Amino acid sequence: MRRATNPTRKISITIPSRVFDKLESHLSYDQSRSKFISSAIVDKLDGVSAPSVQELTTVQLKAALHQRICGCHETASCPNNVLLRNL
Ligand SMILES: [Zn+2]
Repeated sequence: MRRATNPTRKISITIPSRVFDKLESHLSYDQSRSKFISSAIVDKLDGVSAPSVQELTTVQLKAALHQRICGCHETASCPNNVLLRNL
């Protein structure tokens, strides 16, 4: 038997019903759910999509807030950054 160059693996996962319903209404009848989810995972792992707020560390969130509010890169001496650090 010839070995598949890109073998697949069957997995069982649990996702919120709301997410499942959203996925089902997004896909057309001839679209592969497995292919869609696989591609979403690859995109996420390759950093194609930005990390969600839940995935960022507090330090990263504060740095992002500092960038948004102040725009400077003086993380140590900036007075705005000092205020954020105290959150
Ligand atoms: Zn600043």
